[in-house]
Amino acid sequence: MRRVTVYDSRSRETRLLAPLVPPRVGLYVCGLTPYAPAHIGHGRTFVVFDVVARALRRWGYRVFYVQNVTNLDDKLIARAAEEGVDPLALADRHFASYLRTMERLGVRSVNYYPFATDFMPEILAQVGVLLDRGFAYRASDGSVYFEVAKFPRYGALSRQKVGELRPGARVEVDTRKRAPEDFVLWKAATPGEPSWESPWGPGRPGWHIEDTAMTGRLLGPRYDLHGAAIDLIFPHHEAEVAQSEAATGEVPLANYWMHAGLLLLSGEKMSKSIGNVAALEATIDRVGPGVLRLYYLNANYRSPLDFDPDRSLGESTEAYARLRQPFDRISELLDREGADRPGAGPPGALGDDAASLVDRLDATLAEDFNTRESIALLFGWTKRLAELSGGLDAIAGSGLERLRAPYDWAREVLGLFDEPTAPGADAGGEVVEVALAARARARSRGDFAESDRIRDELRAAGIEVEDHAGRSRWRRIGPE
Ligand SMILES: [Zn+2]
Repeated sequence: MRRVTVYDSRSRETRLLAPLVPPRVGLYVCGLTPYAPAHIGHGRTFVVFDVVARALRRWGYRVFYVQNVTNLDDKLIARAAEEGVDPLALADRHFASYLRTMERLGVRSVNYYPFATDFMPEILAQVGVLLDRGFAYRASDGSVYFEVAKFPRYGALSRQKVGELRPGARVEVDTRKRAPEDFVLWKAATPGEPSWESPWGPGRPGWHIEDTAMTGRLLGPRYDLHGAAIDLIFPHHEAEVAQSEAATGEVPLANYWMHAGLLLLSGEKMSKSIGNVAALEATIDRVGPGVLRLYYLNANYRSPLDFDPDRSLGESTEAYARLRQPFDRISELLDREGADRPGAGPPGALGDDAASLVDRLDATLAEDFNTRESIALLFGWTKRLAELSGGLDAIAGSGLERLRAPYDWAREVLGLFDEPTAPGADAGGEVVEVALAARARARSRGDFAESDRIRDELRAAGIEVEDHAGRSRWRRIGPE
């Protein structure tokens, strides 16, 4: 197992990763509340933890990656009421499309997606223990609350003092609570909402208890790594710590907390109301999964990432095309002529340099998953291969395989260069961009007949082109 360091949000230090039971690593990541399609902010979080899992597995750790599905909460119930559908069916529908989107994005590292409502016995048991141990109380309406004053460590993870706690997005003002910071474990039933029987009357679980009921069952009272986007640190993760540590007496719940930075749209937190400009599926349609992964990973995972709809993906599309050029050429030569293709050896020590670059890539990524620096190393390699005198075509198959090793690494660990390349398959946006560039050249020389011909052919292939303010935009209209 490789030595790996992780920036732990709880201690605010970069620490050596020491699994509880090596080589196993229990990884839990707060997943989606599937009440609407995923946006590109979600994509960032899940690509970041996909790389964490891929890398740890490459380095010999046996990762058990659990990502929960909050298939029951206030937002989901509200949305289902608006649409006049059953909340659990709504969650199922959005989760199915979420899985397809993740598959396209190359996120295939999750071992298990547990649904909150499948863990009702564990939820009831944990609420019961918290009542028995005096950390929770019953309100007059049958709801059960966690009493924050009984758990002095509350606030330690997010470094908030209880008196200064500001209500978070999901903390509602409730006069049945003893203190404003108390949070609900079990919500008494409301007519028209799904409910389950419990010793405290019919109701449904609060949001936070779903997570610790699931992790208690699947990963135990203590596990290695808890990940999520940073906006969940308070109150959600603080509540998870309080519930689990109070119920089990086992401390700490998670040995390491990894929080991914948010994706900001013009400086604002991305939310599901932003709509199409940031819908994950449409963005993959537009630029392809590789461009999007490069965009996410070419930044420190903890930093906020400011998304500019006009600029960000254009830059990444160009950068991705540049980065993968030697990889594509090598793959083409090897696919066509095989590894025993004749030719010269790689010039100088280039073959050895490829192998030592792979070591360096691993070492760089093992420092708190520094994807940005790893990608900089890959760009350096692309530059060297592009400047090769005589080009790649002069090199024998065995040499080409050696030179491709850093790209193979990027494919395995970062999930780049992994889009289907078969003709007619999901070609991503690059092919469209090439067609649009040819069309722009035709227009610039005044050949509007050719320009229109390219536009019509794209339309026949399900791509609508719009010319606006001297630029061409396109979107998929689908084969209807
Ligand atoms: Zn969670």
